[in-house]
Amino acid sequence: MISLKNIVKKYDGQTVLHDISVDFPDGKTTVILGPSGSGKSTLLRSIDLLVRPESGTISFPELTYDYSKPLSKKDSFSLRRKTSMVFQNWNLFPNLTVTKNITEAPINVLKKSPADADERAAKLLKQVGLDGYGDRYPSQLSGGQQQRISICRALAMDPEYILLDEPTSALDPELETQVLRILEDLCKAGQSMVIVTHNMDFARLVSDKIVFIEDGKKVFDGETHEFFDNPTPRIKDFLAGIS
Ligand code: ATP
Ligand code: MG
Repeated sequence: MISLKNIVKKYDGQTVLHDISVDFPDGKTTVILGPSGSGKSTLLRSIDLLVRPESGTISFPELTYDYSKPLSKKDSFSLRRKTSMVFQNWNLFPNLTVTKNITEAPINVLKKSPADADERAAKLLKQVGLDGYGDRYPSQLSGGQQQRISICRALAMDPEYILLDEPTSALDPELETQVLRILEDLCKAGQSMVIVTHNMDFARLVSDKIVFIEDGKKVFDGETHEFFDNPTPRIKDFLAGIS
């Protein structure tokens, strides 16, 4: 489990996360929901240190880090190794083939042999329905295909948790479905995931747990069925698209 406790994040003196505590259980999918600007990406990025909160702690069963204290290189490396982020806009290296995009970090960071890394990349490509695409370049792929490659790239690092920030929002509905299916498969396979999404049908389908934040404050933290089947008036408005 990842446990965030008492997270406070400010930008230019303005508090955007107010004392948020939340657990992300193992083997489950947690979806973070909330209006635009509520702090979802900031919260997600705090997990892998793309954003550094002013205070609060992050804990895994065997380690705890206090954001207010300096992190050693070693600590920040081991913290980052636990998770892999999949970005909304894919972030593939345009000058590298699909296979090289997937194997770059396992070879350079995990010190895997190129042969082992290639073998794993081929397996992952098969898993996402892109068998035989390894020698192409990102520009030769559709958006949905590129997003599937970026999911392979995250999985290739063998992270305990995959973090996804609006993984399909840049995609056409048809391509979105391809990517959502892969995430659904990962979810069924028990991959621990934290996903920020605006797609309510998807959130309902894949998540075990919902965290709803508004104005940097946690408003709901509980089981998915409770969120959708028994919503508070505020959540009802949100679900109705009022805000
Ligand atoms: P969206 O649904 O639009 O992606 P979000 O819930 O992910 O929104 P965040 O990106 O976490 O929201 O932003 C939370 C607040 O912090 C917003 O008010 C935003 O303007 C502000 N913010 C985010 N990043 C920065 C930054 N680098 N510098 C200053 N303010 C920022
Ligand atoms: Mg965001």
